[in-house]
Amino acid sequence: MQTLLVVGAGPKAVAVAAKAAAMRAAGVPAPRIIAVEPNTVAGNWLSGSGWTDGNQRLGTSPEKDVGFPYGSHLGQGSSREINRIMMSRSWSSFLVEHSMFAEWIDRGRPHPQHHLWAKYLQWVAAEVGLKRVAGRVTQLGVDGGSWRVTVAGNGADESVIAADAVMITGPGPSDRKLLDHPRVLSIAEFWDLTGRRQLPAASHAAVIGGGETAGSALDELVRHDAMLISVISPNATLYTRGESYFENSLFSDPSRWSALSPQERREVIRRTDRGVFSVRVQDALLGDNRIHHLQGRVVAAYADDDLVALSLHNETRPQRTCRFDLVVDATGGNPLWFTELLDDAATDILELAVGWPINQDRLETVIDYDLSVSGLRPKLFLPNLAGIAQGPGFANLSCLGALSDRVLRSGLVADAAATATAISSTPGT
Ligand SMILES: Cc1cc2nc3c(=O)[nH]c(=O)nc-3n(C[C@H](O)[C@H](O)[C@H](O)COP(=O)(O)OP(=O)(O)OC[C@H]3O[C@@H](n4cnc5c(N)ncnc54)[C@H](O)[C@@H]3O)c2cc1C
Repeated sequence: MQTLLVVGAGPKAVAVAAKAAAMRAAGVPAPRIIAVEPNTVAGNWLSGSGWTDGNQRLGTSPEKDVGFPYGSHLGQGSSREINRIMMSRSWSSFLVEHSMFAEWIDRGRPHPQHHLWAKYLQWVAAEVGLKRVAGRVTQLGVDGGSWRVTVAGNGADESVIAADAVMITGPGPSDRKLLDHPRVLSIAEFWDLTGRRQLPAASHAAVIGGGETAGSALDELVRHDAMLISVISPNATLYTRGESYFENSLFSDPSRWSALSPQERREVIRRTDRGVFSVRVQDALLGDNRIHHLQGRVVAAYADDDLVALSLHNETRPQRTCRFDLVVDATGGNPLWFTELLDDAATDILELAVGWPINQDRLETVIDYDLSVSGLRPKLFLPNLAGIAQGPGFANLSCLGALSDRVLRSGLVADAAATATAISSTPGT
């Protein structure tokens, strides 16, 4: 049996593990799934993760769960059985199991808070027996046709795991901020202070970013002492994610994506995904007259007495400088965060497959149907970068069932046996 090692035990790891378990139960061969995770399963949806305080609400419907859209065609004759098993791991099944289904329906199917979404994912992980290695991946190396994954355990131990393929998940660290200043907060610091009820009062706060990370921070900030809040983003306005049938169907069903031209794809992603707030966040914030939008890209930040000065660049207007007494850097994760884990040999083979220098534009165009980097062996699955090439839903929670189908359908399943074993373990290092 081959092994797929997933970096991070978030929804993507849980979705792939659940589908692999369903395939095996239906008599279809599937690789072994190992998730390496320093925190608990779905840790990024809980307080302390640096991305939320756990009380924010999911932007998408929870029915877009680990099996959605339930259209598996894996294994001839077994697809119905796989879909049936996956339905037993659905959001609704979780609610039924915990006697919460009727109340959820009667309350109008509310989007759950992040901590409840985490509980759902943890329930699925437990049901399917997700194998979690407690630790943080610190290096990705290659050894012939397989990956050598170095894991720093939560103690002082270090181990190396061999895997036939690796999948990267998550947005990476949340402690980035544009200026080291007590009045400038990374998104991790923002949620930490919020959780400890120590977020400083502000007369003019700025939230930098126009995406889901900024939306969540803004949603929280309006409940605190802030007289004026400026949202800074390069776009002409604060876009709301489209929620019409046509927009949603492109996220749920990526099969039509390949028929669009590269320009049309970028247009869809620009209008519906990157740098857009969910409808729920926009609805909650529109009525608050303390919130304003400042168009521009922050090109400089410096301390100015007790304030923080931000210089904003616009394509068509002169640069301007604005001053704030609280700045939240909510520009979001870095999709290339994993490249820092690659050792020299792994960087070399990725460069050969992608071209030099490795950057987001290049990577986004070389993601294959199975969500791995085209031409790279051993396989490296990058669903977070698959939006442009394969469909906008693969980077987020919009089609986790389709994501797991594509990954598990890849050559991994068909290839001959190989096992992932801890090939060295050096406690105390
Ligand atoms: C605040 C916020 C709200 C969002 N809301 C939505 C939404 O409503 N709908 C939607 O479709 N998308 C949403 N997204 C976008 C995206 O879908 C989520 O980020 C989603 O969690 C991605 O799932 P994942 O499995 O890739 O990673 P995550 O859930 O982020 O999990 C990644 C895991 O990797 C672990 N990790 C990090 N570094 C390492 C390492 N070196 N070694 C091992 N493990 C590591 C982390 O601890 C984490 O548990 C949201 C994003 C954010 C930030």
